[in-house]
Amino acid sequence: MDCIFCKIINKEIPNYTVYEDENVLAFLDIFPCALGHTVVIPKKHFETPLEMSVDEYKNYSVGVQAALQKVNSTLKPAGFNVGWNQNKVAGQAVSHLHTHIIPRFEGDGGGSMHSIIKNQGEKTVQEVYELFKN
Ligand code: 5GP
Ligand code: ZN
Repeated sequence: MDCIFCKIINKEIPNYTVYEDENVLAFLDIFPCALGHTVVIPKKHFETPLEMSVDEYKNYSVGVQAALQKVNSTLKPAGFNVGWNQNKVAGQAVSHLHTHIIPRFEGDGGGSMHSIIKNQGEKTVQEVYELFKN
């Protein structure tokens, strides 16, 4: 498979490793949108968490938390935005799951999750809730 992040796992492409364990590799994003911008990837290729078993997701989450702790203790930012872009429509450019850890600093000019999209759609919150009852 021609996956750039699998190539990083296989050491065909170098990286600046921040944290590594048996299940995940966390490394500095090559085009950082903030100081210390890190991505955490599962060592096994998954496009999204939807393909993972519960145990694979648990192991991945434990690795993401450990990477978050490492970035936090090393750079001591004032906060973070943490998450992943899932599928092309949401901005996923690399089809190997990666959680972005984006450190935030006072006055850095960034926004919040709410700045990703402002389009609530045509249904009311109540109508959306009804969909979950089926
Ligand atoms: P996406 O847009 O898919 O959520 O994020 C992909 C991220 O991977 C981007 O932030 C991009 O800068 C980063 N990236 C792409 N190729 C490489 C690479 O070869 N090395 C590293 N360290 N980061 C990469
Ligand atoms: Zn991959």
